[in-house]
Amino acid sequence: MVADTSSAVRLPSKAYAAMAASEDLVPWDFTRRNVGPHDVLIEILYCGVCHTDIHFVRNDFGMSMYPLVPGHEIVGRVLNIGDHVKKYKAGDTVGIGCLVESCRECDNCKNEQEQYCLKGSTYTYSSPEKGGDGFTYGGYSNQIVCNEDFVLKVNDKLPLDKVAPLLCAGITTYSPLRKWKVTAGQRVAILGLGGLGHMGVKFAAAFGAEVTVLSTSASKKDDAMKLGAHRFVLTTDEGQVLASQNYFDFILDTVSAEHDYNFYLSMLRTHGVMVCVGLPSTPAVVPAFNLIFHGRSLSGSLIGGLAETQEMLDFCAANNITSDVEVINMKYINEAYARMEKSDVKYRFVIDMATL
Ligand code: NAP
Ligand code: ZN
Ligand code: ZN
Repeated sequence: MVADTSSAVRLPSKAYAAMAASEDLVPWDFTRRNVGPHDVLIEILYCGVCHTDIHFVRNDFGMSMYPLVPGHEIVGRVLNIGDHVKKYKAGDTVGIGCLVESCRECDNCKNEQEQYCLKGSTYTYSSPEKGGDGFTYGGYSNQIVCNEDFVLKVNDKLPLDKVAPLLCAGITTYSPLRKWKVTAGQRVAILGLGGLGHMGVKFAAAFGAEVTVLSTSASKKDDAMKLGAHRFVLTTDEGQVLASQNYFDFILDTVSAEHDYNFYLSMLRTHGVMVCVGLPSTPAVVPAFNLIFHGRSLSGSLIGGLAETQEMLDFCAANNITSDVEVINMKYINEAYARMEKSDVKYRFVIDMATL
């Protein structure tokens, strides 16, 4: 069915939203823009809970806009399309990650790196709507409208609740492991075994590396091995840490809270690379000495572009890789946040949107 694309019409929608930084999420009724000629209207089936959602709800980065509807690990079904939409039809299974628009003209957009759009990408929530006057609202909601170019194809042979986290946790770990060419014969550490970390373990193992989990939680050792790790280092145990000095070619740092980067840099071999994807809100202090004397590199990485996200989803479908999830009722969201802040999730909460 082709939608009525009148921009005067708005779509009544339901969500859970934070009204202010210090408050719990609560039910919220609002409207979304109508389906434009290049837009797709999606019924949201599942939405993963990323730690970035918590950072934004708590205004950790000082850039949140309220009411704030979090959620950027979205899987759903196409309900309706605009009359110029080419890629999708009603009934298709699709996904949306962290991006819903970009300028499409800058060097980075032209090079399939929309996440680094030089004019500023439009994020799935708490971001100014491109060409509109409001803000974007994310996936803790019954439906969403998105330009077809920012919608991903999802293979519906995979369990869709377990696919949802691939849209952020998946691409955020896949992209740096690919960029730095992680492969067999390399020693790779995944720092922090949460939503991102457990996907990092699965990808690094699938790419053939020797994988070590660096964790503060002794209770996660057995899980780490089941997820595909070969070694587990409890970072509060001095003996285990000493045995990993100058050991790794590559460390993927997924830690969400303040931590000492130097402690982990010391585990890199000469010319080793540590890539930060975790986003503590406090700045790190890294003396140049700790990089210079072993020729070590410290880098960062933001999600991935649209083409690479599709490549990752296709790789997961071909290799039967999905996320380990705890499916929750929408009403459980505030407890889920509290548990994630205590590193207590195995390994991603995913909201069943039928419970909204
Ligand atoms: P998560 O599921 O809560 O996992 C974070 C893990 O970090 C915890 O499970 C814990 O693992 C470890 N950790 C927590 N506090 C720690 C501390 N003080 N010291 C050492 N380790 C600690 O979070 P997530 O959803 O994976 O997200 C992780 C971070 O990545 C967040 O900051 C998020 O905003 C960011 N992020 C970035 C991007 C990007 O594009 N760069 C994309 C998505 C998310 P152990 O129990 O194993 O120690
Ligand atoms: Zn995320
Ligand atoms: Zn751009």
